[in-house]
Amino acid sequence: AVRNVLVTGCSSGIGLALAVRLARDELKRFRVIATMRNLEKSQELVKHAGPVLEKTLEIKEMDVTSEESIRRCVDSIPHHRVDVLVNNAGLGMIGPVESQSMASMQQLFDTNFFGLVRLIQEVFPGMKRRRQGHVVVMSSVLGLQGLLFNDIYSASKFAVEGFCESLALQALKFGVNISLIEPGPVITEFERKLYEEAANMDLSQVDKETLDIFQGFYMAYSKEVFTALGQSPEEVAEHTMKVITSEKPPFRYQTNSLYTPITTLKHADPSGNLPLNAFHQMIFQHDRLFKASLSLLKMLQWRKRRDMEHSRSP
Ligand code: NAD
Repeated sequence: AVRNVLVTGCSSGIGLALAVRLARDELKRFRVIATMRNLEKSQELVKHAGPVLEKTLEIKEMDVTSEESIRRCVDSIPHHRVDVLVNNAGLGMIGPVESQSMASMQQLFDTNFFGLVRLIQEVFPGMKRRRQGHVVVMSSVLGLQGLLFNDIYSASKFAVEGFCESLALQALKFGVNISLIEPGPVITEFERKLYEEAANMDLSQVDKETLDIFQGFYMAYSKEVFTALGQSPEEVAEHTMKVITSEKPPFRYQTNSLYTPITTLKHADPSGNLPLNAFHQMIFQHDRLFKASLSLLKMLQWRKRRDMEHSRSP
């Protein structure tokens, strides 16, 4: 049977790539309801969807911060039937916490965390009734591991992880699956928006030492990491497709295997000091180690490019 898949945040990035990938499935297994907050931003999706538009893919409006908007969208789906929910819409945020306004932090949680909660309230009861369904949530490796100057973003993804870990127990009882997708860096609008916001940030309350770490170190480091380790949204969509079509979907799925060793450090030491000290040393104590890690990143970047060229040649 054809499954109805509702995807949020489809005007760009991972959401767009995934909606198109699902709608273009050779086996035509999906009917995609690609949603976005602002329909005026649908040109990219329309362009990428091409011939499948209005066939296996339809575009609808949904703002995940509004219960009314969510309900209106779900009400327009025949029998309100959402077989697969892909909770993808999300915002990023970087910088010293003392420079963030309470309003912008709350907006981030309202989108990244309460957006998911609102959607679950709307579609989970139907899934339980039908004893069938799959909730796929775009989390992040930062939902497993904190990162310098990502305090609020990481907290929102930890919230998502804790929520899903709890809900998954109930879901299991009703034959509903939950899967957390945990990408590392992905080259999308997300990164551009982060730097744009960082450039316009009010840093007047921040002391010089912190400012030096943020502007003099973190920004360069972050850009390097995205270039060296960043995946394309299409790669993440391909991994997510695998999770959606899997017979027994995994509860957690990391799309970038280079991050797996870092995220397991935490489980090796219940006191939490091992990963904390490892990161602290890498960042603050060993300038040489930092430079070495940058050259390692550059090497990985070179290898990735080489592998991509290899896979392109027949
Ligand atoms: P993106 O900025 O291209 O896409 C995010 C989408 O969410 C945008 O289309 C945006 O308009 C939409 N959105 C924001 N607020 C919304 C709202 N209230 N209602 C509906 N839509 C809203 O970035 P992306 O990289 O494609 O991000 C998608 C998801 O992947 C996010 O949840 C993000 O946290 C997660 N993620 C991204 C990265 C990365 O490095 N890019 C890494 C790990 C996880």
